[in-house]
Amino acid sequence: MHHLALQKRALVILAGILNTRNIPNALLFTGQAGLGRADAALFFAMAQNCSGNREPDSDYQQMLGPNGPCGICRSCKKILSGNHPAILHIRKEGVLTRIGQVRDLIDSLAFKPFEGKSRVVIFHDAESMNKESANALLKSLEEPPAGTSFVLIAPDRAMLLPTIVSRCQEVRFVPVEQETAAAFLEQETEIKPHEARLYARLSQGGLMQARQLARRNAAARWQWLVEALAKIGDQSPAHALMLAQVLSANKKRFVEDLAWIRLWLADLLKHRLAASPLPEFTPDPGWSAGHLLELLEETEAMEHDLSVNINLRLALEVMLLSLQRKHGKSGGRPFQAIG
Ligand SMILES: [Zn+2]
Repeated sequence: MHHLALQKRALVILAGILNTRNIPNALLFTGQAGLGRADAALFFAMAQNCSGNREPDSDYQQMLGPNGPCGICRSCKKILSGNHPAILHIRKEGVLTRIGQVRDLIDSLAFKPFEGKSRVVIFHDAESMNKESANALLKSLEEPPAGTSFVLIAPDRAMLLPTIVSRCQEVRFVPVEQETAAAFLEQETEIKPHEARLYARLSQGGLMQARQLARRNAAARWQWLVEALAKIGDQSPAHALMLAQVLSANKKRFVEDLAWIRLWLADLLKHRLAASPLPEFTPDPGWSAGHLLELLEETEAMEHDLSVNINLRLALEVMLLSLQRKHGKSGGRPFQAIG
């Protein structure tokens, strides 16, 4: 089963559209990454161009109804592999979907597609359009060339110009319940139930991320990370500095570490304030609610600083040393910095 099958509400809307054969000029798929938005756009485009025989029980029909794609005809295969000339993929270049890309696209839409019944333009990062790009696209969204429709993909409609949103029909993709995600993962990957639950929790309902975590066996990293922090008071200042060095060595990885640290602190705080049970694999260093709140704020500030350029190692050294000092057995005794 494809994990998109869990997006029941979105699929009902798309199946309904395919049944009426009345394709809107522009659809807007919103929701966090990893929920299957891009696959839904592909399957939707496949359904409009499919020339094969549909098997009533196939995965595609279960997701998109009797007019879903077959998934195996020449057209479906070409679209799946990203090589169908009538399915156009627009992705951001750097951080932007640039006006030049939009203009080139509009120029190319003036020609009829050589192949395929319906041309579908998929904007994979619609939120990355700046004002100029978005304005250049408006007219095409409103009056697309014959046989052409658009699918815009973005995390949230609030990230787009209202004039764009008002020209689209929105289809929302929502995070799945953690239990559902865990059950799906367990069935699919045959990992142990407690690991499936951990990955579902770490990915916050995004199944694609959960799957990647499982593939990477990320449980070990999580356990090492939170235990290292929970035990930091038992260690020396030199150890805190070493931990800062290890964590700051790979900035990309640390972005994920930091999100996990925030999740860990938030779970501890919830446990402290509401006496809610701690999730599995959540070591509790016994820090007070006030201190946890402070650390959460520091973590969030660091997440923000990471998007600009900070000296990550220095920032981590300051944070971890202060943690170590605050909870160290030696109390608040000043120490000699090393080297
Ligand atoms: Zn097909």
